[in-house]
Amino acid sequence: MPVFEYLCKECAQEFELLVRGSAAPSCPACGGQELEKLMSLPRVKSSATRGVAMRAAKRRDAKQARDRMHERIRYEQSHDRHG
Ligand SMILES: [Zn+2]
Repeated sequence: MPVFEYLCKECAQEFELLVRGSAAPSCPACGGQELEKLMSLPRVKSSATRGVAMRAAKRRDAKQARDRMHERIRYEQSHDRHG
């Protein structure tokens, strides 16, 4: 059974997928079906794909920064309450 490597254009997740019959592959992370089939090595990504990946990474970073900030606010609030 052929295994293909895909890049999700929705969330820039890379994953391998067994392709069975005519089932449309979808991203395991977000369920998106905007997938780019990656060729075997050497892997060449288009600038458009890199842009998607960078945007997704920036979104991830922003979310992590927000999460850290919320954690800190929660910590400070609980600290104030108890102390
Ligand atoms: Zn995805």
